[in-house]
Amino acid sequence: MRTKLELPKVKSGYRFDVDISKTCWFRLGGTVDVLFKPQDLDDLQYFLRNKPNGLSCMVLGVGSNILVRDRGIRGVVIRLGRGFNYAHHEGQELTVGASTLDLNVAMYCMENSLSGLEFLAGIPGTIGGALAMNAGAYGSDISKCLISAKAIDMNSGEIRTFHPDEIGYGYRHKRLGNNWIFVEAKLHVNAGEQQVIKTEIEGIQQARGSTQPIKSRTSGSTFKNPEGQSAWRLIDAAGLRGFRIGGAMVSDQHCNFFINDNNATAEDMENLINIVRQRVFAHSGVMLQPEIKIVGD
Ligand SMILES: Cc1cc2nc3c(=O)[nH]c(=O)nc-3n(C[C@H](O)[C@H](O)[C@H](O)COP(=O)(O)OP(=O)(O)OC[C@H]3O[C@@H](n4cnc5c(N)ncnc54)[C@H](O)[C@@H]3O)c2cc1C
Repeated sequence: MRTKLELPKVKSGYRFDVDISKTCWFRLGGTVDVLFKPQDLDDLQYFLRNKPNGLSCMVLGVGSNILVRDRGIRGVVIRLGRGFNYAHHEGQELTVGASTLDLNVAMYCMENSLSGLEFLAGIPGTIGGALAMNAGAYGSDISKCLISAKAIDMNSGEIRTFHPDEIGYGYRHKRLGNNWIFVEAKLHVNAGEQQVIKTEIEGIQQARGSTQPIKSRTSGSTFKNPEGQSAWRLIDAAGLRGFRIGGAMVSDQHCNFFINDNNATAEDMENLINIVRQRVFAHSGVMLQPEIKIVGD
């Protein structure tokens, strides 16, 4: 690890040897060498321009789609702070900071009678995470309503605005390199009726509560749905509903959600993911592709 003295003097300071498991949905993973929560874009740019050569950096949102390994993450983990948490709109263009929670964007839209982003109410991540994952639900995803996204290059500190075709979106996928940290999005919204939007959001939340283990320590869908098929059906058909390794288990309620049920380690969870992949392949000939990002040592 770099000595503390080598890190540039930023407005927000750093935290060292941080237990990341406390702030990830799975509640798994080891210690992060350095946690940096930039106060605003200037702070982030200053850090990126002045960090020591070769220092490894990665960005996380609220950790609702990641599995951090037991030995943690070397180098610096960047988590965007309060200065990136905002929403405002003009006409049909909504501007949101990348640390804003998807749910809060949906609520902002409801309060301002703006429709089109109701689906965000069911996704527990940030807008930055949604831009990185092309998060979506109920036939919508963030790329479909994205006008442009502002991002900063982790290597150089250069700031650029990208249009969706430059980001190269597909299903839970983007082509743009992981060196770009999204800092802001402009999203298309329509004028709508507040009561209709409210009812839709409540419907989404109710449906989720009854079909997904949203109160458990999970990271949502473990695997992407293969073209024309459902990952959960393939897992179920392979007889893996409720299957366990150590404290990690396949949810009884929704087979594509894996749960830290009983003091699992990240290793239990990664083993579960690998064994489920192998067994589903042996049963159906389909090799599932993880949606969850596995990071760290
Ligand atoms: C109960 C539950 C339900 C879920 N339902 C859905 C669903 O319906 N649809 C869906 O799509 N997902 C769903 N998810 C998964 C997850 O919420 C989304 O993928 C979400 O977009 C991740 O956002 P995050 O802020 O938590 O990102 P993280 O999990 O912290 O990070 C995910 C990836 O995004 C990258 N990233 C994060 N922030 C940035 C940034 N600012 N710039 C660049 N890269 C960044 C990280 O490096 C990492 O690779 C669900 C998860 C849970 C726990």
